[in-house]
Amino acid sequence: MTKKLYHGAAYYPELWDEKVIEEDIKLMKEAGINVARIGEFAWHTMEPEEGKIDISFFVNIINKLYENGIETVMCTPTPTPPIWFTHNHPERMYVNQNGETMGHGSRQHACTNHPYFRQKANEITEHIAKAIGHLPGLIGWQIDNEFKCHVSECMCKTCQGLWHEWLENRYETVENLNEAWGTKIWSEYYHSFEQVPQPHPAPFLHNSSLSTKYRQFSMEKIAEFSDSQAEIIRKYSSEPITHNSNIPFAVDNERLFENLDFASFDTYATQENKASYLMNCDLWRNFKKGKDFWIMETSTSYAASLESYASPHANGYLKAEAVAAYALGAEAFCYWLWRQQRAGCEQPHGSVISAWGEPTVGFQGVLEVEEMRKKIEPIMISTRPLQAEVALTYSDQAKAYFQTEPHQQMDFRGLVTNFYHHFVSLGIHRDVLPESAHLEGYKVLFTPFLPHISDEYRERAVEFVKNGGTWIVGPISGGRTGEHTIHTDAALGKLEEVSGVKALYTYPLDGTGSKGTAFGESAPLGLWSTVFENDETTVGTIKGGNSEGKAFLTESKLGNGKIVHLGSLPIGEEGDILLKKIIDHYVTSADVTVRTNVSNGTIVAPRVGENSTQTWVIVNMDGQGGQVDLPAEAIDEFSRESVSAGKFEVGPYEYRVITFK
Ligand SMILES: [Zn+2]
Repeated sequence: MTKKLYHGAAYYPELWDEKVIEEDIKLMKEAGINVARIGEFAWHTMEPEEGKIDISFFVNIINKLYENGIETVMCTPTPTPPIWFTHNHPERMYVNQNGETMGHGSRQHACTNHPYFRQKANEITEHIAKAIGHLPGLIGWQIDNEFKCHVSECMCKTCQGLWHEWLENRYETVENLNEAWGTKIWSEYYHSFEQVPQPHPAPFLHNSSLSTKYRQFSMEKIAEFSDSQAEIIRKYSSEPITHNSNIPFAVDNERLFENLDFASFDTYATQENKASYLMNCDLWRNFKKGKDFWIMETSTSYAASLESYASPHANGYLKAEAVAAYALGAEAFCYWLWRQQRAGCEQPHGSVISAWGEPTVGFQGVLEVEEMRKKIEPIMISTRPLQAEVALTYSDQAKAYFQTEPHQQMDFRGLVTNFYHHFVSLGIHRDVLPESAHLEGYKVLFTPFLPHISDEYRERAVEFVKNGGTWIVGPISGGRTGEHTIHTDAALGKLEEVSGVKALYTYPLDGTGSKGTAFGESAPLGLWSTVFENDETTVGTIKGGNSEGKAFLTESKLGNGKIVHLGSLPIGEEGDILLKKIIDHYVTSADVTVRTNVSNGTIVAPRVGENSTQTWVIVNMDGQGGQVDLPAEAIDEFSRESVSAGKFEVGPYEYRVITFK
């Protein structure tokens, strides 16, 4: 349960003198910052010479912050090993896909699998945990920082050896691997695990199995690294541990958070891309179900580096973002960063205070967030986000499949976000679920863009359907095996047997003139598609193109529920209308009630209190103002006045909190 709402900032006291630190703490208090995250790049300050470790600077900082009412999330500094680790040691460094070895001077330059790196990372972690674990000002830990945000799969010699070990553990015999990967193709055949290459530079593409397995290997290894740090910290501290991740990083977030205590993410979504911001909230809420997530980093106004900058938020947007996050289940809303860097490569990045100690353009927004935080805190503490009735699966394993097989440079994150956005604009309250999540309490499950549907996932979904659920599978779901090969029993493997459909062809419908029609709407179809036989399961048919008269949308009854195959993606403006119609149809026919008639650009985050009373947090996020239909009379939580059923207006970036009687 949430005990308080945190409003925080990343802080780098090791970069400033004592006078500036005093000034910073004074300004933090004025701005309402109640938590600072520190330490994640400070390995050099802690261990300037190999083996000479001194954490006292950070002990003093944490105590000083605490004396001033500011609590601390302490980080391990492992993204930036110092020069004593790197100089003259190319074998310890990260090697990219082109075989280039990284040097010192930026971050994430070490191979996180190198045994000496692991040893030194464990040592520094242990020293920090010992020195800081018992401090009263400490409320949490962050392991490392944004794993794999600048790098992906390391191709060094250490990783090569571990890769071979990993393969042997997985396949036991090289013959099993050869069979699974179909390596007689292009004479890839291997006689021993040692012969299996990393996906190093090659004249054309690598075998899909090799590419995808290497990504999975890398994602497992980084999660194991996180596990090992967490284990050390737990010996000295009982404060909860997290990592600040995001969707685009080369990690499997579900696996990463498995052994951590709470989930957090960093987001620099611009105002135009608020769907991405909201999707992160709906997903991160579900990595550790029932526990609040943290937004560990976001900009007060704009992200920037030496090479780029984003558009600043409009005045008022920061508060709208923050209230939406708290309402959707965030315990903390934290900025990167407190004081603008005076050096390095991120000097232009938005902050709370400038390098010369004055408020930035984002500062007013921070004050507005703090005013809002104080107002909503008691309500957020006494309520929880309401579980949705509609779930969408999000999978980082699918992300790996798309990286190996992007078809036509398809952007997985963009595809998923666009799909997700329809639910927001239809006012459907939704949970974005990791692949292994339980399905109890949901009425409709959407599984878009999941190339490999595991037996375990399928069985869980089928159980859900038999109990009355509606499962919509596709587009681009189910056509690949766990080895990233094609099924040889049927286009969609066992899935076809379960739903009783017959997939005829799989091919791209883009540019073929194929139009899909369903529920009275028509639109061009695109992307890699599955075309079905037109039979008693058909709900949507194809006109034009190579598959005239066949089906792209089917519906099969199973137990008390149904399985729906969406074989193709309706595209363009008409496509959005058709897709929304399909979503709306299945959500409506499944009797989904947690849904609001809300104007575009405004969101409703439903929460539930004691005695099952529902509280709605209504936020306008586009600066245009909006409205929502209230189904019943309610109480305005701030004025305590009664609000009648019917149209309810919110002004630009305004938020309102109402509770139904
Ligand atoms: Zn490596």
